Amino acid sequence: MMNTNRSPSLILTVVSLLGWTGAAMGGAHDVQRPPVKIAKPVPLVIQNVQVWDGTADKAVAGLDVLIEDGLIISISSGQAAPENAEFIDGGGRVLIPGIIDAHSHIAIPLGPKVLRQEDPSYVAALSVRAARMYLMRGWTTLRDIGGPSQGLAKAIDQGVVDGPRIYPSAAFISQTSGHGDHRGLTDPHPNVGGPVNQFEQRYTLLADGPAEVRRATRESLRQGATQIKVMAGGGISSDYDPIDTTQYSIEELRAAVESAEDWNTYVAVHAYTDAAVNRSLDAGVKVIEHGHLVSEKTLKRIKSEGAFLSSQSFGFVRIFMKGNEDLSNTKAGQVMAGTDSLMNNAKKLGIPVAFGTDAVGSMRAYEAGIKEFGYRLRWFDSLEILKQATSHNAKLLMLTGPRNPYQKGPLGVIKPGAYADLLIVDGDPLTDIKVLEEPAKNIQLIMKDGRIYKNNL
Ligand SMILES: [Zn+2]
Repeated sequence: MMNTNRSPSLILTVVSLLGWTGAAMGGAHDVQRPPVKIAKPVPLVIQNVQVWDGTADKAVAGLDVLIEDGLIISISSGQAAPENAEFIDGGGRVLIPGIIDAHSHIAIPLGPKVLRQEDPSYVAALSVRAARMYLMRGWTTLRDIGGPSQGLAKAIDQGVVDGPRIYPSAAFISQTSGHGDHRGLTDPHPNVGGPVNQFEQRYTLLADGPAEVRRATRESLRQGATQIKVMAGGGISSDYDPIDTTQYSIEELRAAVESAEDWNTYVAVHAYTDAAVNRSLDAGVKVIEHGHLVSEKTLKRIKSEGAFLSSQSFGFVRIFMKGNEDLSNTKAGQVMAGTDSLMNNAKKLGIPVAFGTDAVGSMRAYEAGIKEFGYRLRWFDSLEILKQATSHNAKLLMLTGPRNPYQKGPLGVIKPGAYADLLIVDGDPLTDIKVLEEPAKNIQLIMKDGRIYKNNL
């Protein structure tokens, strides 16, 4: 039997070493993540900042923000602070909500072929390093849309390691031969008499037919998924599925949607084409990941049905190409060719595009994901991109309903009652989003859950 929980005695030792108390330990099968309580929460006032609240068109200057117990308590000019409060002078700089990546894969720091054979503790060490890297560039939340990040999420929430909040999807769900099938050509099928590699156990559940898809969905939920990721069409990194392929029948997709909805959460699908997106919408899918090759007609359907569009620039893919190699005959080239028209049509139709990177497979890819800000300037202005990466992405996170691990307040906004995930920035990201691409230089304060991880002020 697989046990997804860490040893309570070890955790208690680590927690007490860190000087924290109150990290409630779950039972043997508890995949919930109780928040860490800091022993003596001291009220903190960030004084004299221009507050951009995540939704407005302008920042408001000369404000003070009171933070206590991980939450924003009040925002005003020159308010009376509690007697025991500590103070940080923002020096008139801009205060924004922490950045949310709507499409990360923090548990996949190696390519699938390598990962199949690696020691899990090595993979975990890379993910821990990536978690700190994300946090230290001001990315305070990841919607992790495939890969077993649930243990890392738990360790971060318990204060064992530093990193962003994580909404894990656990294992992808893929049909045989689909975008999640990364076996070598002659490897036997795990459900047809072959041995189960760690990849088919924890990264992709290969499931065919409604019954298997139901079981796979329930298995990912059992492992701690806050939402479910299903592969509904061809993908770039997999060997057997051309981009134009449609994956899963309507009955199979419905099985996943029903099982997720029974858990009061939702299914997001990997889909590029009209056929894959429309079949997914027919089955009741709420979130389309990618969508790069869809027509204007399909986009209008996404809008009219209130589904979410979570697309990426894929600009970072070019970083890995030496010079200007011709990509047109590759799967990546096929997909990237659709990016311009997708983004332009989405903007024309007023469909908000979630901000996400799809950085996967290497530390270099994670690092390059920060360039997503600048790549989007081709289609959106800085303010639009900043809204995508904060308040809009936060709406997407809320689709997890009772499976949302962070129930105390909203994310992605600055208002009383919201989580204190905050950045103080030099320069004006509302008019120049690229200041966020140089966090070491331009981000002077990084706070998550009211805790300070960087303070140059
Ligand atoms: Zn992805």
